[in-house]
Amino acid sequence: MAAVANTVCGMVPVEQLGKTLVHEHILFGFPGCLGDLTCAPSFDRNAAVERTATKLRRYRETYGLGTIIDATPNDCGRDPEFLRDISKESGVHILCSSGYYYEGEGATSYYKFRALIGDADKEIYTMMKTEATEGIAGTGIKAGVFKVASSKGCITAYEKRFFCAAAMVSGEIGVPIITHTQEGTMGVEQAELLLENGAKPNKIMIGHIEGCTDLRYHLSVLEKGVFIGFDRFGLEGYTGSPSDAVRVACIVALVKSGYGDRVMLSHDSILNWIGKPLDVTSPTHSEIVFRDVVPALAKAGVTEDEINMLLVENPRRFLASQEF
Ligand SMILES: [Zn+2]
Repeated sequence: MAAVANTVCGMVPVEQLGKTLVHEHILFGFPGCLGDLTCAPSFDRNAAVERTATKLRRYRETYGLGTIIDATPNDCGRDPEFLRDISKESGVHILCSSGYYYEGEGATSYYKFRALIGDADKEIYTMMKTEATEGIAGTGIKAGVFKVASSKGCITAYEKRFFCAAAMVSGEIGVPIITHTQEGTMGVEQAELLLENGAKPNKIMIGHIEGCTDLRYHLSVLEKGVFIGFDRFGLEGYTGSPSDAVRVACIVALVKSGYGDRVMLSHDSILNWIGKPLDVTSPTHSEIVFRDVVPALAKAGVTEDEINMLLVENPRRFLASQEF
């Protein structure tokens, strides 16, 4: 069977994915945003599709962007049909996530309550597996990745439920897993928890790793055999984020130490907000990797082949699932 990725428009052979941004948000709203309908700007879906598709088409034509992993969790406004419409309009492949956000900023009440009255672990496992194999909420659009998230300095009991479910399903059918680390903490523990529960190292990407800029920490996570994501380019001095120049220096050091086959790049940008927007970046946030980072890496001596590894080959290996 061919190695494919499950995009919002169906299965795509991984050879066709091209340059891939591994953690962006095409649409995002914090839980609770729907309570602010009176004061927050209204969301014009059609205009948002048009505007976003135009932007992504430009990235495809200018930079060769091929694929985006949309990292929006189920409880933060995830909308697979919105993603599908934009993918069709722009020609950029998009993968949709399945999973819940970390305890501090997610919608925790539902599964906390389910845990009080029944077997929440089993329910979460079934929900995530169904979303990856049959599709999301009757749309027929399958989740292409699992997204799991933990708190600063700990993985709470609530968060562990999602890590275990994601790892078990991934171990069975190979769904890739991306993670949110809060300010870069708990990367080693996240990798261990996922591996202990059945996920394979090459199906795990520990995200937001740059929240800690200590190379010894990066190496301790890489020792688990997983990928790491420098996936918040353009977020500087915000929730523990370093400058982009420091990120580039870390990546150069890792590539030159032989770890270029385990690093992936992205921005964690939010292209459309539900609720009041939180503008902590410039309007061009989501093109910084191509516009600024790639030239900076080249200037620091990272070769074209090595850059191709970060943007094309690593995501291709990470996302390759057998057909399901
Ligand atoms: Zn994110």
